[in-house]
Amino acid sequence: MPVAGEAAAAPPGDPDLRRLADVIEQVAAAAVAAGRSPADVRLLLATKTIDPDRILRVLGAGHRLIGENRAQEVVAKADALAPSEHECHFIGHLQANKINQVLPHVSCVQTVDSAELGRRLHSRAELLDRTLDVMVQVNVSGEDSKSGIALAQAPELLATLAGFDRLRVRGYMTIGLNSPDLAAVRAGYRSLADFRDGARSKGLAGAEQATELSMGMSGDFAAAIAEGSTMVRLGSAVFGRRAPNGPPQPEAAR
Ligand SMILES: *Cc1c(COP(=O)(O)O)cnc(C)c1O
Repeated sequence: MPVAGEAAAAPPGDPDLRRLADVIEQVAAAAVAAGRSPADVRLLLATKTIDPDRILRVLGAGHRLIGENRAQEVVAKADALAPSEHECHFIGHLQANKINQVLPHVSCVQTVDSAELGRRLHSRAELLDRTLDVMVQVNVSGEDSKSGIALAQAPELLATLAGFDRLRVRGYMTIGLNSPDLAAVRAGYRSLADFRDGARSKGLAGAEQATELSMGMSGDFAAAIAEGSTMVRLGSAVFGRRAPNGPPQPEAAR
C-alpha cells in the first residue's frame, strides 16, 4: 500500500492522526531524498500498548497496516479491531506455545528466526488451510539483547523456509543498532539490503520472492529508507511515548 496520501484528511483535533499525517510526509520525503518512490515504502504502525479505540481511529482514517509484538495483545485487541479492515503483522518474539492463538489474527510473522519456528508455523497454517507470509529476522547489529539470526545463517534458513509450502517468505526484518551513531546504524541496514540483493542475484533457494526489508523505527527510519527499507515500523512517532510501566519492549526500547 502506498504511503503517500494515506490518512491525508486528518481531523485537526486528534493528535494521533496529526502525527500520522506528519509521519507519512516524513517517510515520503525520506524516500524522495533517497531517490526512491514513496510508494515503495510501506508504513507499519507499531500499536503495542495502544488501546483499540485509538487504533480504530487510525484505521478509520485509512491506515491499514499495524504490528503487534506480544501474543497476548494480539488476542486481546482482535475482537475490537475485527470490524475495521486491517492487516496485522507479528513483530515480536513468538513462542511456540502462542502460535495457535496468534495465527488467526495475523497475515505475516516477521520474526522467524529458526527452522523449528518455521516448521511449526507451516504445520499450523496447513491445519488452518491457509498460507502465511513470513520474514526472516536477522540480527544485523550482533547485539546479544536482540533476537534474529546472523546473516551468515540466513541462506540456510531461507532455503528451509522456502521448502514449507504454506509459508511465503516475503523478505527480511531487523531491529537496527541501538546507537546515536547513525553511520553505524546505517551500516547494519546496508548489510541486510546487500544480503537481499546478493541472495537474489546468486539465485539462492527462496530468495526470489524475498524482496521486503522491514527495517527502521521512529528514531532511524530515514536512515533505513536511505538503505532500501520497504517497510518502516513506527510506534512512538505516531502515538507518542509509550507508558513507561507498560509491557516490556525488550528489543525496541529507544
Ligand atoms: C515497538 C516496535 C517498533 C516501533 O518502535 P518506535 O521506536 O516506537 O517507533 C518497531 N519494531 C518493533 C519490533 C517494535 O517492537
